[in-house]
Amino acid sequence: MLATETFNLLKKHQIRLDRKKGQNYLINNHFLSRIIENAHLDDSDVVLEIGAGIGNLTVLLAEKVSKVVAIEQDKRIVPILRERLNEKDISNVEILVGDATKLKFPYFSKVVSNLPYQISSPITFKLLHYDFDFAILMYQLEFAKRMVAKPGESDYSRLSVMMKLCTQTELLFKVPKNAFLPRPKISSAVIKLIPSRNPDVDQFFVNTCRALFQHKKKKSGKALLQSFHEISDLDLDRSTIRDLISHVDGKLIEERVFKLNPEEILIISSELEVVLEKM
Ligand code: SAH
Repeated sequence: MLATETFNLLKKHQIRLDRKKGQNYLINNHFLSRIIENAHLDDSDVVLEIGAGIGNLTVLLAEKVSKVVAIEQDKRIVPILRERLNEKDISNVEILVGDATKLKFPYFSKVVSNLPYQISSPITFKLLHYDFDFAILMYQLEFAKRMVAKPGESDYSRLSVMMKLCTQTELLFKVPKNAFLPRPKISSAVIKLIPSRNPDVDQFFVNTCRALFQHKKKKSGKALLQSFHEISDLDLDRSTIRDLISHVDGKLIEERVFKLNPEEILIISSELEVVLEKM
């Protein structure tokens, strides 16, 4: 049993896992298999695994692909991972010890990971700077729901907008708490993310989007007015800002932020950028 094996390995090495470090180890073979199936792996793949832990997923990945690049930050855990791979005669895993948000990733074709939840957001955005086929990633359910939420839904957020514009993302299946050791406080979900470059998503757009979603329920014109400091560091008075915003499509600035679709937010940001450039 994988649960027993995991428990015994941790006990043998006197490791107490720490939820604060995102340490929730997947101990359910059914969900591990479903992750592997959805990754459609073959021997041409190089898989990046972020947060390998003691290797419950790593071992299964290594069987199918040419190479696994496994990142793990916790120095107490890495020796156990190495020992386990050695025992199983697995030699196609390169272990990188360090913080995955800071390390430069080497080449990979796919990402398959049960992510440490506290770095969900920075890792997701970091991945968008790389070119790869797709990612199969485990997130906390709440985060996964925000990733795929549609305009008008309560989970719709800046993250949903970015995912819609820079990826094709779908929620594949939910994973219950008892699939993990230790058991997390909330359920999880596995996401498939296919990256797609979008040249319109630049820093100005990101800033505009942030300003809007600071006031998600307000009309977008009002949201822009109240958070204009996120968009421009020019020291403008309120009436000048109001005037600038009035140059944006009238129908869009009257709409509530949470109802705007990503393409409409792109229009708002590009129109605003044009008027600001004329200042
Ligand atoms: N994939 C394993 C472990 C998942 S738990 C399994 O499913 O069983 C997430 C792992 O990520 C933990 O081992 C934790 O120590 C590690 N981790 C946490 N923060 C990290 C970071 N910033 N960079 C790399 N690894 C990290």
